[in-house]
Amino acid sequence: MKNKYLLVFTFLISSFTILAQTYITNVTVTDVEKQELIPNQTVVITNDLISDIQKSTKIKIPENATIIDGTAKYLVPGLVDAHIHFFQNGGLYTRPDAIDLQKYRSYNQEITLAKSDMEAKLRRYIQNGITTVIDVGANYHFLKQRKDFNDKIFSPTIFITGPLLTTYEPKVYENLGEDEPFTLTKTIEDGINGVKQQLQYNPDFIKIWYIAGADGLSIEGSARKNLPIIKAIIDEAHKNNLKIAVHATQRITAQLAVENGADFLVHSVDDEILKDDFVQLMKKNKTILCPTLIVHRGYINTFGQKLLMSNYELQKADPFQLGTLLDLKHLSDTLLVENYKSYANSQKTVLDLKKSDSISIVNLKILSDAGVLIATGTDAGNIGTLHASSYLAELKTMRKSGMSNWQIMQASTINGAKIFDRENELGTVSIGKKANLILLDANPIENIENLSKINTVINKGAVFKPNEILKDSPADLAQRQLNAYNFRNIDAFLEPYADDVEIYSYPNKLLYKGKEMMRKQYLEMFEKTPNLHCELKERIVQSNIVIDKERVQFGKEIIEAVAIYHIERNKIKKVYFIQ
Ligand SMILES: [Zn+2]
Repeated sequence: MKNKYLLVFTFLISSFTILAQTYITNVTVTDVEKQELIPNQTVVITNDLISDIQKSTKIKIPENATIIDGTAKYLVPGLVDAHIHFFQNGGLYTRPDAIDLQKYRSYNQEITLAKSDMEAKLRRYIQNGITTVIDVGANYHFLKQRKDFNDKIFSPTIFITGPLLTTYEPKVYENLGEDEPFTLTKTIEDGINGVKQQLQYNPDFIKIWYIAGADGLSIEGSARKNLPIIKAIIDEAHKNNLKIAVHATQRITAQLAVENGADFLVHSVDDEILKDDFVQLMKKNKTILCPTLIVHRGYINTFGQKLLMSNYELQKADPFQLGTLLDLKHLSDTLLVENYKSYANSQKTVLDLKKSDSISIVNLKILSDAGVLIATGTDAGNIGTLHASSYLAELKTMRKSGMSNWQIMQASTINGAKIFDRENELGTVSIGKKANLILLDANPIENIENLSKINTVINKGAVFKPNEILKDSPADLAQRQLNAYNFRNIDAFLEPYADDVEIYSYPNKLLYKGKEMMRKQYLEMFEKTPNLHCELKERIVQSNIVIDKERVQFGKEIIEAVAIYHIERNKIKKVYFIQ
């Protein structure tokens, strides 16, 4: 009996899903391959696939279909971030090998957060139009967990490897079991076994962390010494039909990796301008390059306490991770903080960064002009490079290389699909492909930043408004305005507030009302107060009320205060200050 009902039920569900159709009418389709904008199109989505595209006048829409009016809008393929790490959260405490702050927050807490936060991270990618991500260095936990998200409509399509195979491992990551992001491979045999171990968990590819010089040898000496292990890993992966991604930032490691069969270089070469023989080698071997232009400066600017965040990032990033990036302004270990600050702001560091950044950008243009396939990737998860929200900064930096907006669009869509030969399934707005799409309010070919003007995201055929896929909690709103306050960004600061916000001195003295009044008050203060920093000491959240205990460095003064935020209809409606 039970089975019979189940059968009927299953039948109903499947016949229902067969009928699930969405029509995006009168839209301009962005053809990234032909580099053409095609106006007045109707795009039909059936279940999770694009089933038809025709001139709007030629398509008849059935009565029960969902219709999205695409008038004056642009339909682009969902974006691909070809370089991310789920085991890293993007905040200050996420890489204890780069800065050890474990006395404030243990690495174990960071790992626990990375795991528990997966759904929010995935939703944030979709919210920002990124419908495919490639995790190019994970661990067994995430490699196994991936299957839980395969069929989730809130999750991007995930390509993922296991731990990075490496001849050098930072001490803090040793012996972490399933959470260990590295597999140390000191011999050829280790290398082969490192690949074999991952096979049972079905990785999409194998990743090598090709680090040269950590053994005290010269870069080239070290690179050549480890080459037999690198080669053995590449050969073993290829033997098992797995592609190889390689971290290689020097010309010599990149060259040796490509010569020996690397399929995907996950960073730019940043120590030498590439010569033609290397470019031809990349072309001949069809090696794909992911430039990751912003990740390095994320570290340096965080340590140097000169991080800049755009309005977009202040609004779209995980607000709590973003907030930690300013913690160096108040951590008690001032000696450590000062050491990092003076290192990051030293003339040598500043010049080195400038040099490596400009070499990366020149190399990107050389490779792009030569026809080497470029795939956009952020290296999100590293300190200062936040998941999903950092993508736009990467695009803007790619633009500086001189790549055209069309080329950047290709790098961010179809080229990402080509890394694992999925171009028949992903990466363009074409019949038969997965309905992973973004509907934009503005033309991305005119300005690549228009990729942030997202009206609707369609992932695996499911339609989302960006603010529905990931809802703001009251604490999110309180944290966002706090972050923007610390970055002195008046527009981002006001964004979480209601237009008719009321500001009180506790318990009930109205100080002023309305966002415009608030703008005046704070704008002047942001401009006039040097050394402004608000540290959150404690936070209590009770339904729609957030109570923050704050310690504010206000010029030379330090003020302790409590702010009580009342949230109504997803905006901060009232604030009560107790001083
Ligand atoms: Zn990386």
